[in-house]
Amino acid sequence: MNFTQGFRDSALAQKLLENIRRKSKTPANIMEFCGGHTVAIFRYGLRELLPPHLKLLSGPGCPVCVTASADLDKVMALAAVPGVVITTFGDLIKVPASYSSLDRARAAGADVRTVYSTLDALDIARQNPDKKVVFVGIGFETTAPTIAAAILQAAAEKLSNFSVLSLHKVTPPVTKVLLDAGEVKLQGIICPGHVSAIIGADAWEFIPERYGIACAVSGFEPLDVLQCVNLIVEQIEAGTPKVETAYSRAVKAEGNPIALKMLDTVFEPSAANWRGIGEIPGSGLKIRSEYAAYDADKLFDIKLDKPSREPAGCLCGEVIRAVKTPEDCKLFRKVCTPENPVGPCMVSSEGSCAAYYHFAEVID
Ligand code: SF4
Ligand code: SF4
Repeated sequence: MNFTQGFRDSALAQKLLENIRRKSKTPANIMEFCGGHTVAIFRYGLRELLPPHLKLLSGPGCPVCVTASADLDKVMALAAVPGVVITTFGDLIKVPASYSSLDRARAAGADVRTVYSTLDALDIARQNPDKKVVFVGIGFETTAPTIAAAILQAAAEKLSNFSVLSLHKVTPPVTKVLLDAGEVKLQGIICPGHVSAIIGADAWEFIPERYGIACAVSGFEPLDVLQCVNLIVEQIEAGTPKVETAYSRAVKAEGNPIALKMLDTVFEPSAANWRGIGEIPGSGLKIRSEYAAYDADKLFDIKLDKPSREPAGCLCGEVIRAVKTPEDCKLFRKVCTPENPVGPCMVSSEGSCAAYYHFAEVID
């Protein structure tokens, strides 16, 4: 048995489910913040196994999905600059910006390269001293430390043709905005796993303290999610909301101090624009002035010649806020498919629409 199989044991899953069914009396909406959880919940059919009065809702947790069209248009503008090489993780390539996508820009001659890590992007910069290599930094606290490490490495090497367009976002501020808006009444939150490994479970204390909502951090295996729901149900039934962790093999209360230090060295908090939500103060990470030589926003005069717009008919903004599900969207499956995605939630591997597309049919 390998390490992950232990977290997929069906007898243990059955026990946890029996516990949940026995203890849970109160109807509850439980939102999973993470796109990674949405995928795990669908892959293992967990929604259907829980008592019907427990409703799992998908939240905003995919960094690609929450990137606003205007920010994607900035990426497209950069891709059009002569001599610029855009490097990015694969998910972003097919995501539609207002008028095109990196995929289409590449077909039209732009130099767009998919990388598996920022180290690859640094290599491309080293090998192409005559080009300006821009890494598109999209991600939450999970990926931002690796981008910070790449900037520190570039600075150590005095690499003058590498920069980052930082579109990073941090997660507690958006959680507060969603809870303050109260569009969906939540009784529980499944807190993000990888994000919490960096920022620490304590970062979510405001959820029970300020909003009285039960919460627990989860990993990405079926037993992790069931254990997390079990903890949340216990909190709801006891009326004692708090922060618990069903992912202690990766998450500590205080997070990862080395990664946090690296983040703080390279980035500072800034406002960020979230798809479907708008600008949220303090929810982004901009590159500190000490590292301005690696900040694509400062190095290039990025101008958008047309106003940004959302894809017509796409409900990604509402899906991200858990106000609508992909099945509420008239384009879902008919016009919008992974082969022909209309919005980012259908493109990203952590997107809700892609998860519904790939798994909901199997479950029905
Ligand atoms: S914690 Fe991991 S899975 Fe969840 S949203 Fe962040 S990157 Fe995605
Ligand atoms: S199905 Fe497609 S168009 Fe509809 S919300 Fe999802 S991504 Fe947008």
